[in-house]
Amino acid sequence: MAERTTTGTGRRGTQAVVVRGGTVVDQTGERPADVLVVGDRVVEVGTTVSPPRGAVELDASGCVVSPGLVDLHTHLRQPGREESETVESGARAASLGGFTAVVAMPNTEPTLDSAEAVRNVYELATTATAEVAVAGAITVARAGERLAPMAELAELGVRIFTDDGTGVQSAGLMRRALEYATGLGVTLAQHCEDATLAGDGAMHEGAWSSRLGIPGMPAVAEEVMVARDLALARSTGARIHFLHLSTAGSVGLVRRAKAEGLPVTAEAAPHHFTLTDACAAGYDPVFKVNPPLRPESDVGAVKQGLADGTIDAIATDHAPHAPEAKDLPFDQAPPGMLGLQTALSLALTELDLPLVRILALMSWQPAAIAGLDAARGGNQGGPVAPGSVANLCVIDPTATWIVDPAALASRSRNSPYGGRSLTGRVRHTVFRGEPVVIDAEAQR
Ligand SMILES: [Zn+2]
Repeated sequence: MAERTTTGTGRRGTQAVVVRGGTVVDQTGERPADVLVVGDRVVEVGTTVSPPRGAVELDASGCVVSPGLVDLHTHLRQPGREESETVESGARAASLGGFTAVVAMPNTEPTLDSAEAVRNVYELATTATAEVAVAGAITVARAGERLAPMAELAELGVRIFTDDGTGVQSAGLMRRALEYATGLGVTLAQHCEDATLAGDGAMHEGAWSSRLGIPGMPAVAEEVMVARDLALARSTGARIHFLHLSTAGSVGLVRRAKAEGLPVTAEAAPHHFTLTDACAAGYDPVFKVNPPLRPESDVGAVKQGLADGTIDAIATDHAPHAPEAKDLPFDQAPPGMLGLQTALSLALTELDLPLVRILALMSWQPAAIAGLDAARGGNQGGPVAPGSVANLCVIDPTATWIVDPAALASRSRNSPYGGRSLTGRVRHTVFRGEPVVIDAEAQR
């Protein structure tokens, strides 16, 4: 199954790279060390490495050298919406954000619900600067009516399935999908939203939606599906991953389920711990996202969930929309915001967590959920050790920068963080031994 990880150009066998003078931080601990990479592999980690002549030197003084980040939730828009993003441009944005792997969501046009569609994305990703893992759809065309050929997709290496963009509305169909997924050893990921409760809501239902006259969707639209799926997980024994949890109620449900021992995991998106529904006050559609921005109390609960281990991963929900598509009245604009290039910096700036915890949430824990870690035959999420494939992220934790949406690598500009000052930045990214980002510049 390791076949699926052959995206990327691969490198001419012998080029050497030395990451010099940093502090290596991974799941095994923290130590000052240089990292020597030859070809696509880490060959030495230590304080006395002697690189071969001609090695590329990456300065990491004052920096943290970590396993590459892994994003569980990326919308690459290809095929079908190439004006918004492509596999290539999205992967470049990922590299700049420190990610060496992304999970591509299946809500493309056509949907990634067939072997042909999945192979097409793998093909597009062969020259990308990050590994692109595909999430397959649970149901054909994400229509929620009949199951996609999950076995065939699993055969191609698909490890995670979701109808993201919508939740699977039918409990009966979801139960069948869970039973099927368990047999295949794959994970279902749910976008928790009950359509009958969400209705045509365009933001969180609360004081701000009333004041602004924008139709709201209540927190309970998310929470009833979390609760339903926990009941289904309990009765089937299947694993479930909850996408972008955004409410205090959802976080509480997952916390109790984990205490009970259910095999569930969850992610949160940076915008749900950095922005609130008050951002909609100017009717700027850049703040429209699904699930919607929530009040301060929910933001606090998401942070608490990240701190206490209820939430396992920070995932971007990077959702590019071309300017002409996004520039509509708030209630008509498509939901979604860019995330790949700001996620790590937002976490470092806004979360009161040790850096190693943030790396756990953004590298090795999501790698395990996506089935991309060493334990499952992949090579994402570390540890940084001789013999491993060199997927590395070098972070300057003290660098400050101001977000300029026009300077992002995405084909779209819909970042809600324009003008925001952030602390902590990706300096270099190494993907399969290739320095794809050097000093915050994409190399190709
Ligand atoms: Zn979603």
